[in-house]
Amino acid sequence: MATEDDQMELFSAIAANPKPAAALDPNFDPELIPTSAKVPVLPGTYGSMEEMSLHCNRCHRCDLGATRTYAVVGRGNPQAPILIVGEGPGQNEDETGLPFVGKAGQLLDKILESVKLTEADVFICNIVKCRPPGNRTPTQDEMDACRPYLLEQIRMVDPQIILLSGASAVRGLIGDKRGITKIRGEWIEWEGRLCMPVFHPAYLLRNPSREKGSPKWLMWQDIQAVRTKLDQLQQASANAD
Ligand code: SF4
Repeated sequence: MATEDDQMELFSAIAANPKPAAALDPNFDPELIPTSAKVPVLPGTYGSMEEMSLHCNRCHRCDLGATRTYAVVGRGNPQAPILIVGEGPGQNEDETGLPFVGKAGQLLDKILESVKLTEADVFICNIVKCRPPGNRTPTQDEMDACRPYLLEQIRMVDPQIILLSGASAVRGLIGDKRGITKIRGEWIEWEGRLCMPVFHPAYLLRNPSREKGSPKWLMWQDIQAVRTKLDQLQQASANAD
């Protein structure tokens, strides 16, 4: 059986392994795309992430649409019990159309692996679907313009747990402006769903210490709490069947 040190060791193992670029559907109909933030994206607009991706790749609801290569919609299982929301695509993600494929994404995968969570257990996306130039923090207007897409993703995935990775994800979805160090690890109920703010993996890369009380150590506590909660929820639903 793996020791705690073995599991924490996964937090450090980063390999360079970019994923292939996302394909675009040649049957895409541009007439169906809302191109202005004044046009609402109503709940139930999309039947799948693929449909949403086609729209996002032509979207100009905010200025980020003018500078993106690919809109980055998400990766993982669209029926996963856990939805992970990050901040925005970085350069690797913009070039491939897949979220969390750089070093931060590889660290996230290792963190999930440390508690035996795989791609089948998670769907990973961002608050804004297009890359903010220079990897700056998305503005409130950009997050507001993109929010209907995230709400559609939450509707389609219907997760039992939402992890809000970093302060922008917390602010953009639930409007809580407290710093991530203050609220990480706290279960928050939003719209009848269980959410937990956690550190963004990019922040963990900048803070490599694994000493007790360090960001990585705190993340280790949080991801174990998530694993425990998921096991409890799944056990409760199995008992109810
Ligand atoms: S970030 Fe979101 S709202 Fe802005 S252009 Fe991209 S898909 Fe549209």
